Amino acid sequence: MTSDNAGRHQSTTNGALNNETTVTATPEAVLAGHPVGPRANGAVCIGCGEALHETDIVFAYAYRCAEAADWVVSRLYCLECAPSRVRSPTLGVTEVVVGGRLGTIALPTARSHRLCLTELAVRAYSHPTEGCAP
Ligand SMILES: [Zn+2]
Repeated sequence: MTSDNAGRHQSTTNGALNNETTVTATPEAVLAGHPVGPRANGAVCIGCGEALHETDIVFAYAYRCAEAADWVVSRLYCLECAPSRVRSPTLGVTEVVVGGRLGTIALPTARSHRLCLTELAVRAYSHPTEGCAP
């Protein structure tokens, strides 16, 4: 009986810690500095194909599956092509459209630079409980 109670207390403590982590790690904080584009100066708008450069205003669609720790930035848009909401949200997936500017991040090991997301603000947000099953 004693060991059972101890185990229950342990799991409650872990749950509280997990909740705290979820609250503090906002999408814009996690995605700041996230590399985009296949190579340095290689990002393009997925809507019109226009090349995106450092300091350009950009929007990104990013998602994170319920059990995954990492966000995936799957689409980049220029200002004109940016969607104002998450189209066809998926159940069990946190999805965001964030807007900001392109910056550069130095990759010391590769001795190169990559474009990255900076100065982000969330434009649209889809909670995991919203949308249709994938
Ligand atoms: Zn565009």
